[in-house]
Amino acid sequence: MAATRPSEGAALLAEARAAFRREFGSEPALAVSAPGRVNLIGEHTDYNAGLVLPMALELWTVLVGMPRSDGHISLLTTSEHADEPKRVEFSVPTAEKPLEPGLPRWANYMKGVIQHYPAGPLPGFNAVVTSSVPLGGGLSSSASLEVATYTFLQQLCPDSGAAISRAMVCQQAEHSFAGVPCGIMDQLISLFGQKDHALLIDCRSLEIHPVPLSDPGIAVLITNSNVKHSLGSSQYPIRRQQCESAAKALGKKSLRDVDMKDLEIGKELLTNLEYLRARHVVSEIQRTSEAAAALSSSNYLVFGRLMVESHNSLRDDFEVSCPELDQLVMLALSVPGVYGSRMTGGGFGGCTVTLLEADVATRVMQHIQEQYKGTATFYLSKAADGAKVQPL
Ligand code: ADP
Ligand code: MG
Repeated sequence: MAATRPSEGAALLAEARAAFRREFGSEPALAVSAPGRVNLIGEHTDYNAGLVLPMALELWTVLVGMPRSDGHISLLTTSEHADEPKRVEFSVPTAEKPLEPGLPRWANYMKGVIQHYPAGPLPGFNAVVTSSVPLGGGLSSSASLEVATYTFLQQLCPDSGAAISRAMVCQQAEHSFAGVPCGIMDQLISLFGQKDHALLIDCRSLEIHPVPLSDPGIAVLITNSNVKHSLGSSQYPIRRQQCESAAKALGKKSLRDVDMKDLEIGKELLTNLEYLRARHVVSEIQRTSEAAAALSSSNYLVFGRLMVESHNSLRDDFEVSCPELDQLVMLALSVPGVYGSRMTGGGFGGCTVTLLEADVATRVMQHIQEQYKGTATFYLSKAADGAKVQPL
């Protein structure tokens, strides 16, 4: 069985244009795309000012649109998984009448970016959103929607200032309009991803170092468990809070400023749960640094071992895995030619990421499909570029 081939960008764009014509009766004038991402290692470290190592995927959110002169914004999503209604209309925000989050939920990610966009005045516009990033699958359809929206607004009204601040505006949109207190990784990788590279991102300094990932002999396989336990959304803010209180108890600004020695010395100051959460974050930051070095020297065995250690730490110390993710990791690791596998994303469902020899990918997918107690779907993707304006 084959992995779902990432929709070709061109096909996605054609779909968005056709939907725009149907809905608004004219050709769109502008098109942009922003990718989803997979995090190879460095989980739950971004909001601890730590290191992450994601790559942008050949899965995209595409936005096509056209300015209009009456100060109204009309948005349509073609996604069957977005909540109803699929079309919303509202006025361009003003100081007196700012936008507020509401229903449908999917539009909040876009409204948040429009509200926080740093330049203006924005004109009204019509836009259609189409995406090949699975919604809610842990591959960051949310950040790709925010970044696509931001990139679209830049075409209507150029922004000024640092590129990094774009990621912050998108993150702010997710915090205040979607109610998700996410870190900065997803927005950064969707904006700045580089073809054939993973990005080592330091979430404290916001420095980005590309790490080559173009060896044709290896592949990155993403396996969607197709489960999403509702616990996830409530546990995420709790984990964040536990990490913050652990850092505070240790007298540090964030867990980035703590090493294993500090943690052992300060153990008495922490509750057992705070200690375990901190142990995951501190060790994961170290693993991410080692993994980036291993990838730079094509040392896939070491990289794979670090992925497995990351998974075990997320399962045992951070307690964000679930039986389905554990089973997917175990099944992948039982096939020769697999270097490493781990849950990726927030946890409690979503996807695993596996580093393997390219020619065993089919065998791994077959094995998982036969043995996994649920229904898995697969993505084999190379590392892609970040957000782009698409010529029409
Ligand atoms: P993930 O980012 O892992 O895919 P999230 O729960 O963070 O999962 O974000 C998923 C939500 O983002 C969806 O439920 C929907 O509200 C919104 N979303 C993402 N992509 C789209 C899209 N193409 N159309 C409409 N809504 C979208
Ligand atoms: Mg998300």
